[in-house]
Amino acid sequence: MIAEIKMNPKSAYIFVTNKCNLRCKYCYEENRTGDMAPETMVAAIDWLVSHYEKEMFARPFENLTFTFFGGEPLLNFPTVRTGIDYLRSICDKLNFKVGIHILSNGTVLTDEMTEYFKSIRPYNNFNWHFQVSLDGCEETHNANRVFANDEGSYKIISENIKKIREVFKSVGVRMTVTPENIKSLSKDFEALLSFGTPVTNLTPIVEGDWNDEVISTFIEELKKCIELYYQRGHNQYFNYLHHSLERIVDNSFNRQKGCRAGEYLIGISTEGKIYPCHRFVAYSKKYDFCLGDVWKGIDENGEAFKKIKEMRQRAIKCLNCKVFSCNRCFATNMYLNQDPAAIPDNGYCEMNEKISSALRPIIRRLLVEGKLSLKEGEMADLKDMGVLYKVSKDEPAELVEDKLDVMARCMIRLVKELQEVKSALSLLASRPKD
Ligand code: SF4
Ligand code: SF4
Repeated sequence: MIAEIKMNPKSAYIFVTNKCNLRCKYCYEENRTGDMAPETMVAAIDWLVSHYEKEMFARPFENLTFTFFGGEPLLNFPTVRTGIDYLRSICDKLNFKVGIHILSNGTVLTDEMTEYFKSIRPYNNFNWHFQVSLDGCEETHNANRVFANDEGSYKIISENIKKIREVFKSVGVRMTVTPENIKSLSKDFEALLSFGTPVTNLTPIVEGDWNDEVISTFIEELKKCIELYYQRGHNQYFNYLHHSLERIVDNSFNRQKGCRAGEYLIGISTEGKIYPCHRFVAYSKKYDFCLGDVWKGIDENGEAFKKIKEMRQRAIKCLNCKVFSCNRCFATNMYLNQDPAAIPDNGYCEMNEKISSALRPIIRRLLVEGKLSLKEGEMADLKDMGVLYKVSKDEPAELVEDKLDVMARCMIRLVKELQEVKSALSLLASRPKD
């Protein structure tokens, strides 16, 4: 039985602009015109904060997160700045913290922006994260991420990342992985590590030809990436290690993870319309999932809201899927198959299944060796549930995800213990009586 969805947005992707100065070859963005007005930004923040305030006392406290998105959000810096300044006044008034994430292509950072960010960053009520899209080394990056004149964007981004790191502590680089750039993945990953950012994400596109040969190369390259990660002495966030571990734990606890479109997450267009997430904003010209707007709010009895509920009920395969490298993207499934509950048929699911199978034993080993760790308390909970199973105190702990596997191991343990009880009893019985 799938739980009813309850709209409780805590994270908003705000389209500050649809404009972008790059023409990346794999970009899904179809609308490249229109900026968000500063007043719309203020209305968007007001709507999310007031919606959140209503829920605040009914639910455990969790920070609101505002992600400035686009297009390239820094192309509309006045609206970004209005948003940040307005959020600051709200945080002061209501005494709470918010997350501010900026997802940028890293090409349009000016001195004025850097100075502004430096002045605002020490403010205590913001949790910052700045993510830059960078596809590895210069050759791979410039093959896709080009300006309108087809010139590569690598040089300017690599210079700007250094400036961004001087301002923000939490900086991430995100590489888009495609079947075409898979062969040089470990070389590109090494180039990403050389920037020393605390977060490195490799994100495969859903579209593309994920055939068997490409999948095998992907797995081999990922293994090399993990080796490189440890050889280079890194202990920061790498999604294929840390996110995978989180997902293994979530699967063990049967927590619902992955896509929370229209539930925890919303997307707000430049015109102030509310959608289930950023991708639904981007595809809105083709498929209209508009839930309402930041002035009137969401119509929970409206058609779009019903469609979101219905897609969650129908997406059985995705909802039961245990792979940990896929976010089960309803919007992309809509785009590819005209049905958000359908799954891609281009080898993408097979790729994720095979990667999950290949990474599981590696992650277990790293966990046992203490090279990866769980959140406080989770290790103990997993042990209690028998998921983190120790055969004996001399053997290393092993993370077991499959419930049947857990049951089988518990049975073996029970049989062993019964055998021990039986031998103790026969020993007792064989003792000479006084
Ligand atoms: S791998 Fe396929 S089935 Fe699994 S969540 Fe992703 S899209 Fe859904
Ligand atoms: S996984 Fe897809 S549908 Fe879900 S929130 Fe992300 S982009 Fe949107």
